[in-house]
Amino acid sequence: MISEIKGLHHVTSMAANAAENNSFFTQTLGMRRVKKTVNFDAPEVYHLYYGDEVGTPGSVMTYFPFGQMPKGRRGTGEVATTEFSVPQGALPFWKERLGNHGVTGLSEDNFLGEARLRFDGPDGDGFALVESDTRGRTPWTGTDVPEDAGILGFHGARFALRDAGATGELLGFMGYQKEAVNGNVTRYRIEGGNAADTIDLEETRGARAAGQGAGSVHHIAFAVENRAAQLEVRKALMDTGYNVTPVIDRDYFWAIYFRAPGGVLFEIATNEPGFDRDEDTAHLGAALKLPTRYEPHRAQIERHLPPLSA
Ligand code: ZN
Repeated sequence: MISEIKGLHHVTSMAANAAENNSFFTQTLGMRRVKKTVNFDAPEVYHLYYGDEVGTPGSVMTYFPFGQMPKGRRGTGEVATTEFSVPQGALPFWKERLGNHGVTGLSEDNFLGEARLRFDGPDGDGFALVESDTRGRTPWTGTDVPEDAGILGFHGARFALRDAGATGELLGFMGYQKEAVNGNVTRYRIEGGNAADTIDLEETRGARAAGQGAGSVHHIAFAVENRAAQLEVRKALMDTGYNVTPVIDRDYFWAIYFRAPGGVLFEIATNEPGFDRDEDTAHLGAALKLPTRYEPHRAQIERHLPPLSA
């Protein structure tokens, strides 16, 4: 079993409209855009990062807004719901605010003793806010969302799977422990990690497979402290038979990727170096940052990217 994984690092999804995605996260949800850069493989597409003040691992939702992309088809083999933590008592505020902003899919429930408000993102993304203890986390305060209601970071994620068995075994190998079962959902939690420590596996046998598109999660990234820990995790996964990519420099973290048995793409990302490596904390997310190899083409890239509100 691996002991280096510390909960979630980031979740990366796909969107259609960049400006709409940007305003949903910064204005409706009151998160901070901590980086504005481009897709490493498609520099005509933004890569937008939203999180807390500094983009603490475990708080970072990232997007590739591809433009005229069809919506994804929800189903099995994907991250069905990305869950954010909000302080205890904050859900009535959010229910009213999201309603006022025209957000669809609002529904409240209680899962394993936690109050939850589900809602849709702009492309039908599956989201939920879960009332949680703050555990030392603080929301971004440069917004009209009051501090006692602001998003603290991820609570965790819920996977929709046709067969949860093998993914559960993988999570166990990664250091997660089975914590509770409720109907067809099994909760896994990692001890000693960050506060984004929950994964729920929802098993629906016979359900149709998801089709990726706008509003779909592209991959889910788990945090390790540093590159040495990442190499240990990589070796352990490969020794277990997983086909893991080489280490890739993503400018703000180092990444490795592999496909989980249930179909979800996993990444292991380092907490170092972080989003302040090329911008100071006060100005995170303000300027367009380009991977070094695209810097000579900046003028052309900037001409084609749609404008975003601050
Ligand atoms: Zn990633």
